[in-house]
Amino acid sequence: MTQAIYLDYNATAPLRPAARAAVEAALTIAGNPSSIHRSGREARRLIETARTAVAELAGAAPDGVIFTSGATEANVTALVGSRCGRLLTSSLEHVSVLEAVAGQRVPSRGDGTIDLEALERMLTADRRPALISVMAVNNETGVIQPVAEVSALARRYGALVHCDAVQAAGRLPVDMKTWGVDLLSLSAHKLGGPPGVGALVVRDGVKVTPLIRGGGQERRHRGGTENLPGIAGFGAAAAEALADLADQPRLAKLRDEVEAGALALCPDTRIFGATAPRVANTTCLAMPGVAAETQVIGLDLAGVAVSAGAACSSGKVTSSHVLAAMGVEPELAASAIRVSLGWATGTGDIEGFLKAWDAIRRRAGRDRDAA
Ligand code: PMP
Repeated sequence: MTQAIYLDYNATAPLRPAARAAVEAALTIAGNPSSIHRSGREARRLIETARTAVAELAGAAPDGVIFTSGATEANVTALVGSRCGRLLTSSLEHVSVLEAVAGQRVPSRGDGTIDLEALERMLTADRRPALISVMAVNNETGVIQPVAEVSALARRYGALVHCDAVQAAGRLPVDMKTWGVDLLSLSAHKLGGPPGVGALVVRDGVKVTPLIRGGGQERRHRGGTENLPGIAGFGAAAAEALADLADQPRLAKLRDEVEAGALALCPDTRIFGATAPRVANTTCLAMPGVAAETQVIGLDLAGVAVSAGAACSSGKVTSSHVLAAMGVEPELAASAIRVSLGWATGTGDIEGFLKAWDAIRRRAGRDRDAA
């Protein structure tokens, strides 16, 4: 069951009813998409319909879409499979990029965007063909990265560009062609699709060695019988997420209410990345002196789900490499939480969050803060 107030869309979004219906419908089909009989053809049709929807979400051609088990696999396939001698990643990337292969880290500016001057210096210093990996939107802060500028630089130095667009899809228009990127990763469960499915989108002419061999599926790019229900659910979620771009101004207002409300309750609240362009759904904020875990647990007890930073895998909270890269002092970073909104968020959720957060503030002995 989803919690009463769910504000952790950047970790995973609640399944959209349309995606659930598509998963359920696909589960009733017995055919293997590679089989030539009627059931097989029906399964194949669902996969190709989903491929078109995902391609539209990415601003790409359907032929370039390779379905994977999620964005982690898409990121690793891009970084390992492009076989570039040299990898440059921003310091702000998801661990699946940072840990895929050894590479050099491009520093972040204090506002949470990649340092383009530093990137250019690194490209000038070593002229070997490189792959640059830069995310479109940071999962912790919601800061939008200058992907088109990175691509323009890359073209001048003969480098390829991979973009992790997991947190951008459905939140801002994603367009591989205008952005000029060669490889792009997506994940279904951040869009209201099911977990365990994603895509690597490859520009025509770019070669990627498959990570998973042993089958001709996905035009020999990813072996193994396709995850039909997952892919069908991904397609349905992708189509709705694209339509939801129109909902972003509403979410921006709700996000602004979170930030204004937090500042009114606790005037020394810090909001990270607020001076850079951000997507509408994310805020990363700190109540100085109150540990993120205390806030997350207190909110959880009040029925509100949020994250401590993003670095929460297998249930443990580690310090945020993103906030560290932005130069945030460790003590302040340790009190940062991430509130992320999405398709089912309403005004009541924001009121509930602020009420519960205020109770934590009072318990922490900060009840003289509010005016
Ligand atoms: N990249 C980013 C920016 C993410 O936020 C996530 C999910 N935390 C991933 C990649 C990994 O996606 P998946 O869960 O589909 O493997």
